[in-house]
Amino acid sequence: MNDFMKNFSLEGKVAFVTGASYGIGFAIATALSAAGAKIVFNDINQDLVNKGLAAYAEAGINAHGYVCDVTDEEAVQATVAKIREEVGIIDILVNNAGITKDGLMLRMKDEDFDRVIQTNLRGAFVCVREAAKIMTRQRHGRIINISSVVGQMGNAGQINYASAKAGLIGLTKSAAKELAGRNVTVNAVAPGFVETDMTAGLPDDVRAAYIDAIPLKRLGTPQDIADAVAFLASPGAGYITGQVIAVNGGMYC
Ligand code: NAP
Repeated sequence: MNDFMKNFSLEGKVAFVTGASYGIGFAIATALSAAGAKIVFNDINQDLVNKGLAAYAEAGINAHGYVCDVTDEEAVQATVAKIREEVGIIDILVNNAGITKDGLMLRMKDEDFDRVIQTNLRGAFVCVREAAKIMTRQRHGRIINISSVVGQMGNAGQINYASAKAGLIGLTKSAAKELAGRNVTVNAVAPGFVETDMTAGLPDDVRAAYIDAIPLKRLGTPQDIADAVAFLASPGAGYITGQVIAVNGGMYC
């Protein structure tokens, strides 16, 4: 392997991608695996984990899957301990698990606001804290949080999701400052609108309006997001921390 390739190789690293049975998380884990990392993922129930394990096996990836709800602190702690025992020390954490519960603010129920914050922001916080305990000891680590363009620009009907994703940017910058001294980088990737189950339900007129607002005139693909994450996870990104990489086709600069 030449020096350039070594700079992007994840050979021998263990990557934990949350909520990665399918969608963007699956694409991220697949890209990290292609770069040489061992893949660990979790999802919220056994059916999803089984679905993920089958998809990884079909892609020729020997992934380790765990049932773990990121809103359950004890479950996250137990999962991180199991990963350590069964797979190895976590080198790369990607906080990808996320949900939406859209609605206009005036009609939004408290529980829909809270659930989105609990999953997308608090869940990521707990995973970062548990992974950081290990990474600071080994004096090496890469943490990548999946935010969103709506956390940067706001979006009508998504006040809960935009708040959580904006919060994730603050979390990223703060954790970056706390962990830099131990050679742990923390960055965020902020996807624009990506072709996944999350966007499949958009009405045709809304989808057309989004595409119209994107200078590159297409929705993103999971691979677009995965490529940015694989770069941030690599040795070549070792001097980048506290940043938000927008992967949004130019829709918000
Ligand atoms: P997705 O297809 O819904 O995948 C998210 C995964 O996270 C699902 O497997 C989901 O399981 C899991 N999850 C949800 N709550 C969880 C919990 N409490 N504990 C563990 N896992 C949980 O979403 P996606 O479109 O691939 O999005 C992936 C990430 O990118 C999310 O953070 C999302 O906010 C972000 N993003 C997406 C877009 C887009 O256009 N799609 C744009 C910007 C940012 P369930 O199926 O049970 O919910």
